[in-house]
Amino acid sequence: MTSVLPAQTTIATGAIQRIGHIIDGVEVQSESGLTFFSIDPYTRQPWAEIALGTKTEADLAVAAARRAFDEGPWPRMSAGQRRALINRFADLIIEHAEELALADTRDMGKPITQSLGNDVPRTALNFRFFADHAHLTPAEVLPMDSGHHTYTRFDPAGVVVAIAPWNFPMMLESWKVAPALAWGNTVVLKPAEDTPVSATIMARLALEAGIPPGVFNVVHGYGPDSVGEALTQNPDVDRITFTGESGTGRIIARAASANLIPVSLELGGKGANVVFADAEIDNAIDWSIKAIFTNAGQVCLAGSRIYVERPLYEEFVDRFVAAANAMVVGDPKDPATQIGPLASGEHYTKVRSYYDTIGESNGSQLSGALGEGWFITPTIIATPDKDSAHQREEIFGPIVTITPFDTEDEAIHEVNDSPYGLNAMLFTEDLTRAHRVSAALIVGTVWVNCFFIRDLRAPFGGAKASGIGREGGTFSREFFTEPKAVVMQMVPPAH
Ligand code: NAD
Repeated sequence: MTSVLPAQTTIATGAIQRIGHIIDGVEVQSESGLTFFSIDPYTRQPWAEIALGTKTEADLAVAAARRAFDEGPWPRMSAGQRRALINRFADLIIEHAEELALADTRDMGKPITQSLGNDVPRTALNFRFFADHAHLTPAEVLPMDSGHHTYTRFDPAGVVVAIAPWNFPMMLESWKVAPALAWGNTVVLKPAEDTPVSATIMARLALEAGIPPGVFNVVHGYGPDSVGEALTQNPDVDRITFTGESGTGRIIARAASANLIPVSLELGGKGANVVFADAEIDNAIDWSIKAIFTNAGQVCLAGSRIYVERPLYEEFVDRFVAAANAMVVGDPKDPATQIGPLASGEHYTKVRSYYDTIGESNGSQLSGALGEGWFITPTIIATPDKDSAHQREEIFGPIVTITPFDTEDEAIHEVNDSPYGLNAMLFTEDLTRAHRVSAALIVGTVWVNCFFIRDLRAPFGGAKASGIGREGGTFSREFFTEPKAVVMQMVPPAH
């Protein structure tokens, strides 16, 4: 986690960005004057100084969002008017692509090719998609045999609190903020303390696009005993959407239940990746490498436990290890880099403890090394114990296990034998088997012969400890609105 240093600390690394909260359309510092620093995990030096919020800023932001919702134009505009402003906002995100991408890369070490090539365009797309979706799916009409018809209204829900993690900062924030805004709500976003910068940049751009003050607020700070906790406990909030660890999700669910408000939880995972012997091996290797080593494995969906059918096992392992060893590890600002450092000192310590205890898993380490600073190179463990921490816990780093299996039933059992249920991948050329196994897995998403491909209309979320609820398309509509039925008599009854 980012360390709190005194605001007046002298920094030797050049100009430090100053980042404030955005509350009611104005960028402000904290009333307390406190700040904290975001540490660039490559240089391990502070690079941005952030206003450190307390309950005061959380309450001010919710009050601003409440006023903007109760009295302002945003919820009263047509979906088409909101769409025009949100699309202008998306245009500005693309115009500021480099600034946004560099913010996430410096905050958490994500290779610039990923933040610029993937995260920025997907952030803009999220805003465009949900603006279109709200415009195109405003209601359903249900004619009834009784001579009535019922129609639905999807009215805005009110004030939405969005709490985000650090692994895909702007992209996951947009996944929450975009549908919330498109459906006419007002928002208070709390980015993760390790990745605060892109959120403030986005909120500045939203104002520049003409989205009214108070509609999209950002407050910075920590979770427990800080702005995060204060936001989740504020009685003026109507919805909480959270992405982060399963343990934090449980705390937030309790806060939401105290105020009896809906909560959407997108939580941790331990993605399983099943490779059958008939798989197209080049494709399977390519996606399996991306599935675990993209973003240095700091992906909720990461394919962190691979199961390979025994006849293919040796060939798969040899080729997978070779492909992992060929990955370019280095400065995340260098376009050649594929794997950067881990996101923070605290997170490095956590992943390092799994690295240091590989021996306890009883598996054999086939690759991987510690680098200078907060680097761990792609690390592969063959055949660990089923109940080892490496096989069962979310490591959230570039460490993967590979285990052989003999039957389809065994593979299904292994995938489902996990506290998590976010996603799985299957590699097979047998169409019937792909459908059969997909149906048997207790997860929110199954990718067959691919990974990470998303249709924003589809449900996204996790089973078991991976979450509550789904977002995407109509699933987001149902969460970010207060659906209402209006029943009209069309034919007067005969008297
Ligand atoms: P985290 O739970 O530590 O923090 C997430 C956010 O919650 C941060 O903004 C943090 O400040 C805030 N927070 C922490 N405690 C809080 C509290 N008591 N009250 C209110 N807010 C609080 O998670 P993280 O380490 O930032 O992110 C990594 C986790 O997120 C991993 O478990 C990963 O799998 C998960 N994740 C899930 C998805 C998904 O879609 N399911 C996507 C990305 C990440």
